[in-house]
Amino acid sequence: MRQSKLQAGLDRDEAIARAASPHVWRPEPWENEHGREFIVVADETVGAPAFAISNEANAEHIARFDPAGMGSIFTAMRKVLDEHRNKGGYCDTCRHYDYAYDYDPVPYPCPTVQALEAIYAADPEPRYYTVLVTWSEEDGEHVGICPAFPSLSYLAPGYFDALQGIHQLVQDTIADMNSRGEELPEEV
Ligand SMILES: [Zn+2]
Repeated sequence: MRQSKLQAGLDRDEAIARAASPHVWRPEPWENEHGREFIVVADETVGAPAFAISNEANAEHIARFDPAGMGSIFTAMRKVLDEHRNKGGYCDTCRHYDYAYDYDPVPYPCPTVQALEAIYAADPEPRYYTVLVTWSEEDGEHVGICPAFPSLSYLAPGYFDALQGIHQLVQDTIADMNSRGEELPEEV
């Protein structure tokens, strides 16, 4: 089954949160040449400010949605998704209570899943590309390639290193192109 925008968006946002400072973030007033600003402190051990902001409400908001705070939201979302799974085109939890006092199945995505999907509705559709690993006689190494991105290749002695290398390269390229608003190539 293809990964939904919701799954792709959750995976991406979790990866972003995992990469950020894991400590509890807190806003702190900070007097400087601009007057009173706020810093969001993200590192308990060295007290390193993550960034300065001029508005206290913004600082509080950012600190509230620190990686730990977002983590608990992601966990809750995954629990809800886990409970509302697609079973043969119907939600395996939701039921309509009909006039005959029967419980009718509810087509998937049920309203609960649709509510979560709305969070990522504006995201681009996830794209899928074939990657291949072949042996390069010329280099004496494995080479990972992606036919949709003919300019990309990744050489490695080991098969799995070549596979992982081309996979990462394609992901980085897609992220780059998305950030520049460029059109992604069609799968070939
Ligand atoms: Zn449901």
